[in-house]
Amino acid sequence: MSLISKADAIKLKKQVTGEVSSRGLELAGALFNQFNEFHSKSHSDDPQIEKLLVRQRVYEMDNEGWFDSDGIIMFSPSSAAKCERELCLKAMKVQKDNQILLPFQQRWVRNSSAIHEAVQRDLLYMTKKMEDPPFKVLFNEDGLPMWEKNNAQYKEFEHNGVKFAIAGMMDGQLVYRDGSIIGFEFKTKSNSVAQVGHYKMKDAADYHRLQCVAYSLLFGLDEFIIMYEAVAKDHWFKGEDARIDIRTFYVNVTEQERNDLLDKFARVTKSVQNNELRPCEPDKCVFCEYKSICGCKGV
Ligand code: SF4
Repeated sequence: MSLISKADAIKLKKQVTGEVSSRGLELAGALFNQFNEFHSKSHSDDPQIEKLLVRQRVYEMDNEGWFDSDGIIMFSPSSAAKCERELCLKAMKVQKDNQILLPFQQRWVRNSSAIHEAVQRDLLYMTKKMEDPPFKVLFNEDGLPMWEKNNAQYKEFEHNGVKFAIAGMMDGQLVYRDGSIIGFEFKTKSNSVAQVGHYKMKDAADYHRLQCVAYSLLFGLDEFIIMYEAVAKDHWFKGEDARIDIRTFYVNVTEQERNDLLDKFARVTKSVQNNELRPCEPDKCVFCEYKSICGCKGV
């Protein structure tokens, strides 16, 4: 049995060869500094940006539907790291477990969504108000920012003899100062500020990196930055000694990683077509919505 996963091996190789430390550190550091510089001042509302955000909201409300894959099995980038058995059950349209969120959990989700929107708003203000920021928002031909519904994509693949599709939308596409387009993915941590500290967070989570691999297949991008923000902050009076509450990580997706993910989606597609389930992956059960139907021992 292998003691190190393929994803870990690729990550280790990147660290050893220094790939992460040059371009990766430059980009992740530039975005980190950009946010801190922007948040070192207060900013008054800009009517143009506020109207643009309203226009985006109207666009989202007018385009609530999702892609019709015409019978082809469709995967989402956020499912890239999920258990293959769970992906089979979803593709087979098996009834999910009834999940009831407690009030504090609903507020947890609500707070994370609000920060998500605030960060995208910040990026628009940075693009317009900062003098030559390293990263600017990419806009589509209608002048809307390239994120959420505005950049929703659907793409079909034929791999290992089967057809399937990937569909999804990113948190943003940014233009770096050298003209490269960088995928932007934003995540929140809600338990404590320590969750994003250097002690607990050594790197972006593997499941978030895999999400970038799926985006890479969907949008044709290689480079991404995953940004984490702790919803909880350090004590107000800590001042300059306050613990770090945001982190940024660079991800450069390789051909091997794209191929591995296509292999996985093809395995699931074949199983579903044969009306079979893939083996259990008990280390992925915590957030699975098919526990009651799964049938795996120990779940
Ligand atoms: S309960 Fe666990 S093993 Fe079963 S489908 Fe879900 S994640 Fe996979």
